[in-house]
Amino acid sequence: MAQYTPMIEQYLKVKEQAQDAFLFFRLGDFYEMFFEDAVKASRELEITLTGREGGGKERIPMCGVPYHSAENYIQRLIEKGYKVAICEQLEDASVTKGMVKRDIVRVVTPGTIMEGKNIADKSNNYLVCVTETERMMSLSACDLSTGELYVTSMPASVEWLRDEIGIYEPVEMIGDASMLQTIQNEQLQWGKPVVYTPRDKKDEQLVRTQFGEAAWARLDRERQDCVSVLISYLNETQRRSLGQLTHISPYDPGHYMILDPFTRRNLELVETVRDRSKKGSLLWLLDRTETSMGARLLRRRIDKPLLHRKAVEERLEAVEQLYNQFILREDLRTSLKEIYDLERLVARIAYGNANGRDLNALKMSLYQIPALRELCATSSSETLRKLADEMDECVDLCEAIDQAITDEPPVSVRDGGLIKEGYHEHLDELREASVNGKRWIAELEAQERQATGIRTLKIGFNKVFGYYIEITKANVASLPEGRYERKQTLANAERYVTPELKEKEALILEAQDKMVDLEYMLFAELRDKLSAEISRLQKLAEKVAEMDVYQSLAAVSAEHGFVKPVLTDGFDFVVESGRHPVVEAVMKESSFIANATTLSRDEARILLITGPNMAGKSTYMRQVALISIMSQIGCFVPATKAEVPMIDRIFTRIGAADDLIGGQSTFMVEMADIQVMTEKATPRSLIIIDELGRGTSTSEGMAIAQAVIEYVHDTIGCKGLVSTHFHELAHLEDSLDGLSNYSMAVQESGEKVHFLRKLVPGPAGSSYGVYCARLAGLPSSIIGRAYSLLQHIEQPLEQVGAAKEQSQETEVVQLSIFGEEEAPKIRKHKHAVSNSAPDPDADPAQGSAPVVVATVT
Ligand code: ADP
Repeated sequence: MAQYTPMIEQYLKVKEQAQDAFLFFRLGDFYEMFFEDAVKASRELEITLTGREGGGKERIPMCGVPYHSAENYIQRLIEKGYKVAICEQLEDASVTKGMVKRDIVRVVTPGTIMEGKNIADKSNNYLVCVTETERMMSLSACDLSTGELYVTSMPASVEWLRDEIGIYEPVEMIGDASMLQTIQNEQLQWGKPVVYTPRDKKDEQLVRTQFGEAAWARLDRERQDCVSVLISYLNETQRRSLGQLTHISPYDPGHYMILDPFTRRNLELVETVRDRSKKGSLLWLLDRTETSMGARLLRRRIDKPLLHRKAVEERLEAVEQLYNQFILREDLRTSLKEIYDLERLVARIAYGNANGRDLNALKMSLYQIPALRELCATSSSETLRKLADEMDECVDLCEAIDQAITDEPPVSVRDGGLIKEGYHEHLDELREASVNGKRWIAELEAQERQATGIRTLKIGFNKVFGYYIEITKANVASLPEGRYERKQTLANAERYVTPELKEKEALILEAQDKMVDLEYMLFAELRDKLSAEISRLQKLAEKVAEMDVYQSLAAVSAEHGFVKPVLTDGFDFVVESGRHPVVEAVMKESSFIANATTLSRDEARILLITGPNMAGKSTYMRQVALISIMSQIGCFVPATKAEVPMIDRIFTRIGAADDLIGGQSTFMVEMADIQVMTEKATPRSLIIIDELGRGTSTSEGMAIAQAVIEYVHDTIGCKGLVSTHFHELAHLEDSLDGLSNYSMAVQESGEKVHFLRKLVPGPAGSSYGVYCARLAGLPSSIIGRAYSLLQHIEQPLEQVGAAKEQSQETEVVQLSIFGEEEAPKIRKHKHAVSNSAPDPDADPAQGSAPVVVATVT
């Protein structure tokens, strides 16, 4: 084995504790990295790789970053999904004999950072921990930068785990190795790399101490374990007290609507499918929050719509009052605008890295609270009044900051200028001494000028030489001998000191040092005092966030003419003139066409929607889902009237750009999704399937589509919207009581096809595809042949009642404009609106063309 130098030996020993991190090893003014770390870091950070003798046979690869700019390098590694362990010198090198003691003081990881680019104002940064017992799976999620800590659990289910993790979009996951592997295999993606660290080490005692016995006792065994693993990891990486974690928020997944990651994506709840941007998502539309914590809470509400009707109604009550009271809303917004990110300010205070400006930001925010509270307390909304009642204005804390901290403190807390005059007697004395000293210097300048007769003589100060007397070269000759000791020569001046100047300098600097130290001490004292009140401030932040969400939802609802939904515990979903809120909002010229929806026990609970591509089917289906989600987060909805039942889960299978996930075929993905649906959906769920059965051959696709629809109808019995290009499935209306055919109306005029975007009863016509093929310029021989085939095969199905049985032997043709090209086969069809084949060369506008859609109203 190589014999390394003591320093390298020390390095290796420390490195053992941080195998999965870059070790930043402090050597004087640098953090050095060695061996593999150095090679990798030089590549990742584009810094020069050097080497150094370390006692071994070969030079040891090495690279380093200056201590002063380390933060930036650390951030870059974190952004790339790495961890960085910071190893400091724990003794003063100048007074230590031999090796200085060194150890890791903190491991920076993506899920535990407090600031930097990864900490966006309006979003959270979660570390998620997963654990498992035979029976249960648990998940805890923590955002150190805001102090949030959630924990939940469920009987073991991979789908549940996936759904729940999807909500947090963690940047880092720890916990049970096999669960982490499962999650990795799921390939969930949310645009940021995820670091996985298997871990089962837990420390109960830490949790009990941090949150108290009462909080501990409220958790069941599984949750206790999960939080213990999380907290032990935080403790090991942060190695300092985590005062911002004041409470654990346990929750029961059964209280919320379940939205799996694909549904959340498909419905574009928080980001768009195309470019994963917030713009164009439901969150983007609804976000008129004025504070960062309000924006984060809004997102959490969209992620977790409620199932409890009364709770949603409470939210709606506040939104309604604010909806109706423009002035109140505007007043609230004006106050909220002035409020900084309380959660993050408070977390920094607890973590010990808040500066004077942070405290002032807290003070300015607290100034707004009385007005805000008053607005709510005097409002006509019961929900807002309750919020006001629960609000602690924290006036004492505001005053404490106001008394101590100057109006414009510097960024650094170590250079003075932080504490107000009159706050501390001794500090004022030191200040006085320092001011007197400076006055004395000014007087000395005048005296020296007079004594030497040099009018340009001046006294200056710099950090290296301290105070000096400066004389231009031209005047040096007139300086008397003796008293003046030369200190520094410049191009055209000389600098001197005198014994009395040196003496005074010592006094002034000493006072200044003391002053700066005392200021820091007083600042830290205040910070600690505030730290002790963290939970009050956090509760206040929650209330402010809640108000902000209400005003945001009210403002958007008022602007877009949404209505208050009537929530029910019943089954029926009845919406008049419903719209897709986001599509409507981004439409520039033409206006959105509203469509009604009735999904009911008595009439139809499943709508089978046909119509060509681009007709508006998926927009319509998404709109129904969004109205349901908006209702359950407590927002008004885009409709003229809405009666909305509490939906326990929205399941969507929407064939979009994400069809190919992890190399699986479209069809396999679809089938796997459907399998989950059959297992999880309840009568209270809403199922949305777009283009059912399209990933396989036409006949098979249609057979599966029919079987799935029958299952949803007969076995699950929930509400559903299914779109398909198999018009042939229209016959299901006859055999399934709860299913109705609908289509998106299309009208032709001349050479143009006009999408009416109107949902109308009955299935779509089927000759549209051939018509479009003609418009697209296909040779007339092909068009003619297609029409004649169509005419030949579109025979009405003789036996209406036997549709179900017959479907097994049905062979079909499918002609969709942009869909799969399959050779037409024999088809038996009852519902198809058959149009006689026209002369393919005739102008459609002349009247002999096919009526494209039979269902235009
Ligand atoms: P399909 O699912 O039938 O292929 P889409 O729902 O994707 O059709 O709709 C196609 C386009 O039509 C959408 O991008 C949207 O801009 C527009 N659209 C859909 N529904 C409406 C509507 N109700 N009113 C106005 N435009 C609509």
